[in-house]
Amino acid sequence: MTHARIAINGYGNLGRGVEQALSLAPDLDLVGVFTRREGVMTASGPAFPAAELTDPQLRARWAGKIDVVINCGGSKSDLDTQTPLVASGFNVVDSFDTHARIPAHFEKVDAAARTAGTLALISAGWDPGLFSLQRLLAEAVLPVGQSETFWGPGLSQGHSDAVRRVPGVKNAVQYTVPKEDVRAAALAGETEGQLSAGDKHRRIVYVVLESGADAEAVRQAIVTMPDYFAEYETEVHVISEEEFAAEHTGMAHGGDVIRHGTTSPGTSHALHFNLALDSNPEFTGSVLVACARAVARMHARGERGAITLFDVPPALLHPASGAQLRAELL
Ligand code: NDP
Repeated sequence: MTHARIAINGYGNLGRGVEQALSLAPDLDLVGVFTRREGVMTASGPAFPAAELTDPQLRARWAGKIDVVINCGGSKSDLDTQTPLVASGFNVVDSFDTHARIPAHFEKVDAAARTAGTLALISAGWDPGLFSLQRLLAEAVLPVGQSETFWGPGLSQGHSDAVRRVPGVKNAVQYTVPKEDVRAAALAGETEGQLSAGDKHRRIVYVVLESGADAEAVRQAIVTMPDYFAEYETEVHVISEEEFAAEHTGMAHGGDVIRHGTTSPGTSHALHFNLALDSNPEFTGSVLVACARAVARMHARGERGAITLFDVPPALLHPASGAQLRAELL
């Protein structure tokens, strides 16, 4: 079994989830964890400075020693700069999840990766990621029909991260709550017309404020945030640090991709993919780790530039050989 050497860039919830997932991968070796902060101790030892991955002067130290970097920064304001920088020196995987900005992110990363001769898989995880694949497969086999995606109920890391970046916010979580009547109608194939994400979900935010912060200004900044909250019914609750620690540290999430399609008059089919996750970061980290394996293999085959999960041959995500997969899973 060929081993690939993996680095983790960014040590938040997702960075720790990737570290845990790597401990279960027989063919992937963790080389090191990198962070922008000083003095960070990880489960696998002291972290290295992130600049050693992003700064062309400093990264010579790691040349030829890392096969794939897994970028675990936030989508709100880290990954759009971090991923092109890392791609200019290393193969990279990220979980960029601001759907509206994915095409622009792809172009930027693609240019950096092509110039450097690296391979960069962006927007991996479960949505975007596994849910995107389900939407694609469902539409490919049932071209006449309607798809709906529901998220939650659960904690969205991307939206929680975005709220934590609002000035005056000390800590925050965001729960995505599907409107159950709409979800039930979608499961029964009884919705009419394409629904928007705002038609299907509510967002509930709990924030701990910095001392002296203006609660109303923080609320306004959250509910008007484009791409994250502006198009949803959003509740913002200000709570104490004690309540936050007692009530809001779990990170469960999940959701559904549903498609109803017809192949001839009176003949219909339903497809339903459901995820129920105890830990959003550990599951998302597990997807990123499988993607890192595929990226190492695809780069070795000569692939360059930016790709998404749509471009990955599924067998390359799995550690087993093609022969073993054909015998056991086909
Ligand atoms: P965090 O806020 O926990 O971490 C984001 C970054 O912030 C880290 O990489 C870290 O960078 C920095 N950081 C972490 N802890 C601290 C701290 N105590 N003080 C200062 N900085 C800190 O975000 P998550 O890990 O929860 O989520 C990361 C992203 O994952 C989300 O923004 C979302 O976009 C994405 N995601 C994607 C999914 C998908 O399905 N595609 C699903 C789930 C998440 P550093 O170590 O360099 O300081």
